[in-house]
Amino acid sequence: MVYVANEARYEDMRYNRCGNSGLKLPAISLGLWQNFGGIDTYENGREMITRAFDLGITHFDLANNYGPPAGSAEELFGKVLASDMAPYRDEVVISTKAGYNMWPGPYGEWGSRKYMLASLDQSLKRLGIDYVDIYYSHRPDPETPLEETMQALDHAVRSGKALYIGLSNYTAEQTLEAVRILNSLGTSLLIHQPSYSMLDRWIEGSLQGVLEQSGVGSIAFKPLAQGLLTNKYLNGIPEGSRAAKPSAALNESRITPDVKRKIHALNQLAVSRGQSLAQLALAWTLRDGKITSALIGASRISQIEENIAALQHLEFSQAESDRIETILQT
Ligand code: NDP
Repeated sequence: MVYVANEARYEDMRYNRCGNSGLKLPAISLGLWQNFGGIDTYENGREMITRAFDLGITHFDLANNYGPPAGSAEELFGKVLASDMAPYRDEVVISTKAGYNMWPGPYGEWGSRKYMLASLDQSLKRLGIDYVDIYYSHRPDPETPLEETMQALDHAVRSGKALYIGLSNYTAEQTLEAVRILNSLGTSLLIHQPSYSMLDRWIEGSLQGVLEQSGVGSIAFKPLAQGLLTNKYLNGIPEGSRAAKPSAALNESRITPDVKRKIHALNQLAVSRGQSLAQLALAWTLRDGKITSALIGASRISQIEENIAALQHLEFSQAESDRIETILQT
């Protein structure tokens, strides 16, 4: 059946300005790191992408190595884009990244100009498009001069293959220096993509201060701590969940007694707010306006629907905020 997007798709989503740029991103974006690879079912991936778009999610986040196998998430997204989503290219923001291991030899990872620009060409081919909206350096390279990686990103924009650029997993200090270099080149840094959730708060203070001061937006990856901050693991590890999978990015050892205690207490608070734990976690991520977008993953449509409903209740009373701090700090 021919896909026709929901006419009401822009009615309930919130769109936040990304730093000082002209670009707005949905408060919740969809990432294709897991569940959209060659080993996964195409139809499920296609349905999640189109359902997300129907609900106002206009931003889809990829990387060269997402799959498995590496590259296959871009291929899946490219296939959906060439068919169902073809009429809507200008309504979506597509990002990809390079930094992790992608092909053998010394030019297949990190941050050299050679790798960054070759990888972008490969990504565009897999995606079947002429440009990506955001191109990221996926991780800082301890050996390549920062100038070289930033010049490669600047070149990606000047050659028309990327509209904006981003950094992921860079520290506050590295980001500050990158902003200085990029400003001297005349290309602004649009966005930083750090991990951030109630269980992972490394960006508070340092990196967030740099981003605010530099007018750079941020998109938080793993806002649900890969599913730990949902009701999924409250009573063990369910079959088919990420933690139950053999090649899992999340393994059982991460579900410690301390994490279990925290998620049970947070779940109680969520229930008292009329939310699920996932909704509480997403509302918390977006609570103070410092994060432009929460970048979720999903394995089924119902998760995307549940997570987007978090936007109906983003506010926290002082008592609720205090309770969360107590739970997280004890
Ligand atoms: P999340 O923390 O959002 O975890 C998503 C997982 O949680 C889902 O796959 C699902 O797992 C589970 N889940 C989601 N919603 C629900 C729900 N309502 N109820 C129950 N379980 C739920 O993020 P990810 O770890 O998936 O990362 C999100 C995106 O961030 C990636 O796709 C990628 O784009 C980006 N990313 C970037 C990185 C970087 O270095 N820049 C690193 C990692 C991620 P299950 O399969 O068990 O159902």
